[in-house]
Amino acid sequence: NSIPIEADAVIVGAGPVGLFQVFELGLLEIKAHVIDILPFVGGQCIELYPDKPIYDIPAVPVCTGVELTDNLMKQIEPFGPTFHLGQEVTQVNKREDGRFDVETSAGTRFISKTVFIAAGVGAFQPRTLKLNGIEQFEGSQLFYRVKDPEAFRGKNIVVCGGGDSALDWALSLVDVAESVVLLHRREEFRAAPASVSKMQALCEDFMMQSLTGQITGFETLDGKLAEIRVTGLDGVTRRVPLDCLLVFYGLSPKLGPIEHWGLQIDRRQIVVDTEKFETNIPGIFAVGDINTYPGKKKLILSGFHETALASFAAAPYVFPEKKIHLQYTTTSPKLHKILGVD
Ligand code: FAD
Repeated sequence: NSIPIEADAVIVGAGPVGLFQVFELGLLEIKAHVIDILPFVGGQCIELYPDKPIYDIPAVPVCTGVELTDNLMKQIEPFGPTFHLGQEVTQVNKREDGRFDVETSAGTRFISKTVFIAAGVGAFQPRTLKLNGIEQFEGSQLFYRVKDPEAFRGKNIVVCGGGDSALDWALSLVDVAESVVLLHRREEFRAAPASVSKMQALCEDFMMQSLTGQITGFETLDGKLAEIRVTGLDGVTRRVPLDCLLVFYGLSPKLGPIEHWGLQIDRRQIVVDTEKFETNIPGIFAVGDINTYPGKKKLILSGFHETALASFAAAPYVFPEKKIHLQYTTTSPKLHKILGVD
């Protein structure tokens, strides 16, 4: 196991609220580590609606999910947060010294004075293939993400899905794999039109194949996945031999490990007070879509407000001796120094 990183604050989730938590903590001179299971920051804004305009961010008449995320990253830059992406926070346990042991799926460990849960609607996880018994091949022949394309060199692969991930991987693995079959349940694709045209051109050149239908069964040989059964729109079931099956059915959020951290949870949300946005475990705060309190609205602007109060409430855990005063970013020389705008 790795040596634990000693931290003042660990933020679970790099959605807009997790990112702004960095800012509010930074103004109080509290440095943060930010963890997200996704390989990128921005949470729902990037995963669910990158190009859609948002109209209700105060003083920003309109911006897209990407623009909001980019601006937040720029705004928190002076505070130098450390990002740990592509890993899920699996454990949070209170220690005898009052701090918290935090651990991720990648084995990264922290000992932190405070924890901020900004986990939104949960950790975005790949939607899995629902087929009895197929899960035994996960990681060996069945994959929901590609870590190393070279692992598929010379293999006969079937790529399932009709969105950008499925199309992008099918197209890029054509040069690596022995054969590529793209399998989608409908004839229409959700992916970028340019990718769809490219795929169709490759199919016409016999460089890959496209099939319409659903996986309804599979066959094994010597304990290995040997073929899948695909039932087409015509009701006919065909056998498709393969070495590897890559499934891209999109991501869905799962509350997951958070349920087991001893936090008070009401209908999949963490119960907090509205003075400190603290949970039932002192030192653990919950902000943004993940929390609930009377009158809660799942809005980005509400989450931003919550991060400010949570930061002030957390300061005594980090600096027990220090008196914390509210200062304005406009006029405070100290804040100017912290922000690097002197
Ligand atoms: P999220 O954005 O959900 O981010 C949480 C992050 O935490 C995720 O990246 C997740 O992977 C990560 N995470 C969770 N658990 C773990 C774990 N255990 N380990 C590691 N990482 C974890 N709001 C508005 O105010 N205005 C709008 O116009 C608006 N439009 C919207 C349109 C759509 C289509 C949708 C779906 C939502 C919209 N919202 C809008 C809601 C807004 O996106 C959310 O309120 C906001 O994203 C909440 O931010 P968050 O940081 O709390 O959570």
